[in-house]
Amino acid sequence: MFEKILIANRGEIALRVIRACQEMGIKSVAVHSTADSDAMHVRMADESVCIGPASSTDSYLSKAAIISACEITGAQAVHPGYGFLSENAAFAQALQDHGITFIGPTAEHIRIMGDKITAKETAAALGIPVVPGSAGGVPDFETAIGVAAKIGFPVIIKATAGGGGRGMKVAQNAEELEIAFRTARSEAKNAFGNDEVYIEKYLQTPRHIEIQVFGDGKGKAVHLGERDCSLQRRHQKVFEEAPGPVITPAQRARIGKVCADAVAKINYIGAGTIEFLFENGEFYFIEMNTRLQVEHPVTEAIFGIDLVREQIRVASGMDLSFGQDDLVINGHAIEVRINAEKLPNFSPCPGRVRMYHAPGGYGVRMDSALYSGYSIPPYYDSLIGKLIVHGRDRPEALARLKRALGELIVDGIDTTVPLFTALLEEPDVLSGQYNTHWLEKWLAAEFGA
Ligand code: ADP
Repeated sequence: MFEKILIANRGEIALRVIRACQEMGIKSVAVHSTADSDAMHVRMADESVCIGPASSTDSYLSKAAIISACEITGAQAVHPGYGFLSENAAFAQALQDHGITFIGPTAEHIRIMGDKITAKETAAALGIPVVPGSAGGVPDFETAIGVAAKIGFPVIIKATAGGGGRGMKVAQNAEELEIAFRTARSEAKNAFGNDEVYIEKYLQTPRHIEIQVFGDGKGKAVHLGERDCSLQRRHQKVFEEAPGPVITPAQRARIGKVCADAVAKINYIGAGTIEFLFENGEFYFIEMNTRLQVEHPVTEAIFGIDLVREQIRVASGMDLSFGQDDLVINGHAIEVRINAEKLPNFSPCPGRVRMYHAPGGYGVRMDSALYSGYSIPPYYDSLIGKLIVHGRDRPEALARLKRALGELIVDGIDTTVPLFTALLEEPDVLSGQYNTHWLEKWLAAEFGA
């Protein structure tokens, strides 16, 4: 087992990893930018290293600075969290070249899954059902129109290098397709430095269902069921739950096995998430994330398993501490993402938190790096906390969420808490009857946003 791990991240996820290290008797090293000297992850880690200025390009995304920090502190492994360098194949490779363990999959697996076209081709070859669409990239409008004629409108144009809900355009007809195709390519070029796009059937009423998988890198893999992340704004998740309210045990077992078998076949190591759209009882692969997800705690809650601890174990060469038969779902868990944003436009709202009080009590987990008096810097993601509740069933989890939201105090800045308070009054949310378009429609009706 490692003696010292460096966490190449900040905020709540850095704390999450430090906590796992502490419980495992592993020393932790925090890295931080000059804007984060006062951040909680710096205070909580055993050691810390300043790796650069506020701009993440020169700090949290600087491979050289992070590798130097490992060498200075003697860290044997790096946990990348999510975002930043977590899905950067070159980073995983560079660590390996320096004899440092990347707590995650191999550079090759990251590379395959990081390019969405290659990922989709790989998934299909491994027996995973995919969304109907173009075979690979679409080089010109003539090809695009040919694909659309075959699969039917509406279609969605997606950047192969896309991520974070960006680089997608929907077209309802040929006219829209011409404009969407052109703008999708130029936007992809600007945002990701790669203008390759592909086309998929645009599903009208899908739910976003993702399967958590875990591989030991030696040909064994398990699945930990699904998370339903259908409540989205601009293709980004805001509310996640496990198990999915409409997934049957038979559907879970079937798609779970397909996913676990697929990752076992490629000797995948560590945590991964295979994302699907789910419509009319069918699953359609959209992408795979080769890292820990923001919403992993809902899976931890219902299975009673610490996923970060497990990531560290398999990265050090140990076997998984559980098998498929040990995994039994216990109750229902919900996570809401609390962002420093002002409604109704969700404009970023960093600033000084005068007073912070986390909710507590039975079945409540608050993952956040906030503290009273902390100044949220304006340079990074607006996620400031995740509130996770666990109950014996969905109604109990919903009641607990409402109670916990009432206890939470983040005084001094605007947050997305009022959004969740309002959503918990909605019959569709209470009954679990929503798809990936529900929240956008609700926001438009509520705020005209
Ligand atoms: P990203 O990597 O940017 O998160 P994804 O491919 O995971 O992109 O898609 C994010 C979300 O976009 C999905 O959860 C879904 O809401 C929507 N989406 C993606 N592909 C389709 C599709 N073919 N039809 C309908 N919605 C889609």
